[in-house]
Amino acid sequence: MRASKLLNRTLFDDPADAETNSHRLLARGGFIRKIASGVYTYSPLMWRTLRKISQIVREEMDEAGGQELMLPIIQPIELWEESGRADAYLTAGIMFNLTDRRGARMCLGPTHEEVITDQVRGTIDSYKQLPVTAYQIQNKYRDEFRPRFGLMRGREFIMKDAYSFDADEGGLDVSYMAMRGAYQAIFNRCGLEYVIVEADSGAIGGSRSEEFMVTADTGEDALLTCAHCGYGANVERAESVLPAGEAGGDALPMHKDPTPGVTTVEALTECCKLPAARMIKTVLLTAVHTDREEDVAVLIRGDQDVNLVKVQNRLACLDLKVADEDAVRRITGAEPGFAGPVGLAGVTILGDLSIEGMTNFLCGANETDHHLLDVNFGRDVEQPETLELREAQAGDTCARCSQGALGSLRGIEVGHVFKLGTKYSEAMKATFTDRDGKGKPFVMGCYGIGVSRIAAAAVEQNHDDKGIVWPVPIAPYEVLVVPMKMNDDSVVQAAEKLYVDLKNAGIEVLLDDRDSRPGPKLKDSELLGFPFRVLCGRSLAEGNVEVDARSEGEKQVVPLGDAVEWLTKAVREAKAAARSGTPMPANA
Ligand code: ATP
Ligand code: MG
Repeated sequence: MRASKLLNRTLFDDPADAETNSHRLLARGGFIRKIASGVYTYSPLMWRTLRKISQIVREEMDEAGGQELMLPIIQPIELWEESGRADAYLTAGIMFNLTDRRGARMCLGPTHEEVITDQVRGTIDSYKQLPVTAYQIQNKYRDEFRPRFGLMRGREFIMKDAYSFDADEGGLDVSYMAMRGAYQAIFNRCGLEYVIVEADSGAIGGSRSEEFMVTADTGEDALLTCAHCGYGANVERAESVLPAGEAGGDALPMHKDPTPGVTTVEALTECCKLPAARMIKTVLLTAVHTDREEDVAVLIRGDQDVNLVKVQNRLACLDLKVADEDAVRRITGAEPGFAGPVGLAGVTILGDLSIEGMTNFLCGANETDHHLLDVNFGRDVEQPETLELREAQAGDTCARCSQGALGSLRGIEVGHVFKLGTKYSEAMKATFTDRDGKGKPFVMGCYGIGVSRIAAAAVEQNHDDKGIVWPVPIAPYEVLVVPMKMNDDSVVQAAEKLYVDLKNAGIEVLLDDRDSRPGPKLKDSELLGFPFRVLCGRSLAEGNVEVDARSEGEKQVVPLGDAVEWLTKAVREAKAAARSGTPMPANA
């Protein structure tokens, strides 16, 4: 390809809304152009990278036994009513939906469990046709609450989604592990560093679920990992050993003390000279259901924090938010900061395990500027149902091995594997005839990869202050040839010949034949981040060119006649290294 013909333009300035390096660099390089919030055009350069990522995904999916198909993007809402998910998706506002001219309600697919389940129930009758894993690589549509970071969280984005159908749980285990293995191969081949962590199963539901996280400081997900045993989990799901509390001693008489303006645990520690572990926080929440809102209070030890995802899973609600100030006043009859369990009525009360066994604790009095001290369960207030609702924190002891301390890191979720079980097949009456002649629901798994998000994650992990440093396997072109003087025939001819020879050698090469000065050409080459660069310039007088790798920046002088061989070898070795790349899965 010739740069003079390429439909691309690099920009001088960062886009105003770019908060991350990948967004900034992809926009400045002309790879992406926004046409609406979270909706981007992919330039020819970007599309080459996205096709390469898709091809790696496709090869590994096929290798693992997947069959590629294509499901419709536009779907009838009826299917979502059958699965029981229509309300959750519509209430959350994530689903783009419309009514067609006949009055039928349709949506743009945010995901495809319903459609694939419908396809399989219409295609498979017998256990003899199982197992089956089908996948597609296609646009997905989600009206995200906060589209941001360019391709990282778009409203239109490319996903590979795969679905497995088995006769039983044992079969699902095998299908799940095959996909998990394929994912490791895919992320290695894309040249990414990642960890595998346990994940919350969220709205889709199911038993086991793991996420593949590209490690990056700007990642939206908080992760906890144990260096001792390899346990890794998304904070939404992570478990840790509850840090020891403080003995409260034998029950003393309860009393109400004035605590004017003291509304935080920290301030209470000061004012009441009591450690946080001797207090109970009452966290007020609003759970959203299809037909109503529910007031919820979670009791937790003062030195711990509530994990909203765990609470939402327990309540099986569509959405869960921290109660707003008006709701707090309505529920407690007091200003925010003074909520407590004693006398709290008309509210669902849940307790975290951390409150078990606490005596003589401090809590809010449901009266402005007052707290209760020496409160005891059984006598002053009933102890509610307790379960783990606590958010594990960095530094906590790992719950898996009880030895290591959990460390925190941030990640970008690029892939997710789920065991769904029979949730969808039962709801949608998708059954097959088993060996014993009985009808049984399919046992399903689902497996997603953010293809366009991978491109952004790769840039997030591979860039410097000058621009992108594409991993070789997903770079738009492998080699850039730069004639430094367009008015010097010998330079232009040498560059043209090199360009043709490299193409003939099977290298993906871009020739910067634009009639511009060397300075801007070199700046662009750094911004665009092609892995290898050849400069044809002054050293041609001695029969040499200069070559360098974008990741190293060290120029080498190579005889013109050896340049093709040098570059072919460098590209081949870089690809081989990515293929055998050592991943760092936390719990592979
Ligand atoms: P997130 O938690 O980031 O919103 P998710 O858990 O809802 O993602 P899945 O339904 O598991 O996403 O989708 C599979 C994959 O699709 C994700 O692992 C991610 O890589 C990608 N993905 C999800 N949402 C987006 C988006 N808005 N833009 C780009 N990629 C996305
Ligand atoms: Mg996910």
